[in-house]
Amino acid sequence: MGKYDRINIYKRFAVMGGTFDPIHYGHLVTAEAVRDNFKLQKVLFMPTKNPPHKMHRLTTDSYHRYLMTVLATITNPYFEVSRLEIEREGITYTVDTIRELRQIHGEDAEIFFITGADAILEILTWHNVDELLEMCEFVAATRPGFYDNDMNKKLEEIKSKYNKEIHRIEVPSLAISSTDIRNRIKNNKTIRYLLPESVEYYIRKYNLYIE
Ligand code: ATP
Ligand code: MG
Repeated sequence: MGKYDRINIYKRFAVMGGTFDPIHYGHLVTAEAVRDNFKLQKVLFMPTKNPPHKMHRLTTDSYHRYLMTVLATITNPYFEVSRLEIEREGITYTVDTIRELRQIHGEDAEIFFITGADAILEILTWHNVDELLEMCEFVAATRPGFYDNDMNKKLEEIKSKYNKEIHRIEVPSLAISSTDIRNRIKNNKTIRYLLPESVEYYIRKYNLYIE
């Protein structure tokens, strides 16, 4: 069986990258809003590989993060989970992922890349950002009515420097974060309604995030 045999071809889709440690309704609401707004065929959730460390904290094994992402997206026919990054050898850069997706889905494919407002502030520091901006449309999720001066400045900066617009979309669930969910679990506080029930069951079953 070839490496890409199980992959379907799409011509207009978004990629939602993340550690998903764990995945929560912030991710899901954002992906669905982008899917609807830009009339996409699919959103591919792309869990990252295990980095050596992320902010001094060991990331949960990609095996668990991948399965939680599958559980969370199972009810949405527009959502799919991709193993491209998990399975790639060596360091992964977003630009490599988009290049590989172009190879699979074709040069004519329209690819959107979804990030939260926090990530867009870092975008100028990303590896090969000019190529990345050329290869896909960026969509930044922000909170409704939330006017962030820093972010607007950055978006203007990108626009004038690279002559490329970054789309913005407002989502109501932006206050949810994986960090907060992990802290809640550690502190024996409820996580109900912050993420799908199936993911909570999975977390409890495998005793994730208890220390
Ligand atoms: P952590 O707290 O560990 O950083 P996280 O909640 O930010 O986790 P990530 O997996 O780091 O989740 O995020 C993946 C992508 O989703 C990033 O682009 C991030 O900006 C975005 N994102 C995270 N939380 C939200 C949210 N509540 N609403 C919209 N986008 C989000
Ligand atoms: Mg984050």
